[in-house]
Amino acid sequence: MRFFSRREAARLAAGGFFAAAASRLPALASTAAEVTEVAPGLFVRVGVHEVATAANRNAICNIGFAIGRESVAVIDPGGSLADGQALREAIRARTPLPIRYVIVTHIHPDHILGSPAFAGDRPEFIGHAALPQFVAERGEFYRKGMHDLLGGEGGAAAKLDRTVSTTATIDLGGRPLEIQAHGRGHSGADLTVMDPATGTLWAADLLFVTRIPSLDGSLTGWLKELAELKKIKAARAVPGHGPASVPWPDAAADEERYLQTLAADVRAVLKRGGDIEEAAKVAAQSERGRWLLFDDYNAHNAAQAVHELEWEDAQ
Ligand SMILES: [Zn+2]
Repeated sequence: MRFFSRREAARLAAGGFFAAAASRLPALASTAAEVTEVAPGLFVRVGVHEVATAANRNAICNIGFAIGRESVAVIDPGGSLADGQALREAIRARTPLPIRYVIVTHIHPDHILGSPAFAGDRPEFIGHAALPQFVAERGEFYRKGMHDLLGGEGGAAAKLDRTVSTTATIDLGGRPLEIQAHGRGHSGADLTVMDPATGTLWAADLLFVTRIPSLDGSLTGWLKELAELKKIKAARAVPGHGPASVPWPDAAADEERYLQTLAADVRAVLKRGGDIEEAAKVAAQSERGRWLLFDDYNAHNAAQAVHELEWEDAQ
């Protein structure tokens, strides 16, 4: 259930410190987020490769928007109210068209907590059919964690207006976006978005590049979903963490190798009767040096994998 890294959780646990820190935050410049137009009318704000801090305002994942002839769709509203507001400023710097949709790719705080920045636009908030359950279970925990870190700029998860259990298409005016719901993978409720007009697959956190993947769903499920995603013919993909866009499907290779290595190593530990502690120490160590924030997440990924894989032989 834990998504924050160990270091991040320790920071969040030190709520008193961050409540104090929040009041000392410099006033947020109401400037637009810097975005990259990865394909015509499709913009990405690249997140920094850090854990959430007061300084980065949880702007740590890739978020963005697509502009059609009639309206705009946000793809992930950001990691805090402040982050969402900066994204909204970036949209307003480019178009006066209404923001009709906010697609929330999954439950994690860096993707979802910026939702209130768009409430005034009265968009349809769209998420996976399983997302409301995760919001009910974790929404308050995430909201409070970010509030302790950022005060009133922390944000909150959205209440969804529409859920997707298989696929759905929204049209921005001459620009359909195809939304696909996935089985348990990175999280328990992942969405991806295909923009056929530009051949761009917004893979969100089913794709990590450069920053170590974080496992909060199912390791075997993620590998399965990734294999399916690789079959999609797209010119490029937008990862949830990594560059603004990457070639597809070539850019999936590193993540696939990491997840396969993690699975093989954890199975080997279980086979020789090892436990979570051993798995956390040895699994996927050959991947250290290939990923940013490896030590923040790898042990947790290994522990998650043990919980999932220890029942394999019994089935
Ligand atoms: Zn995530």
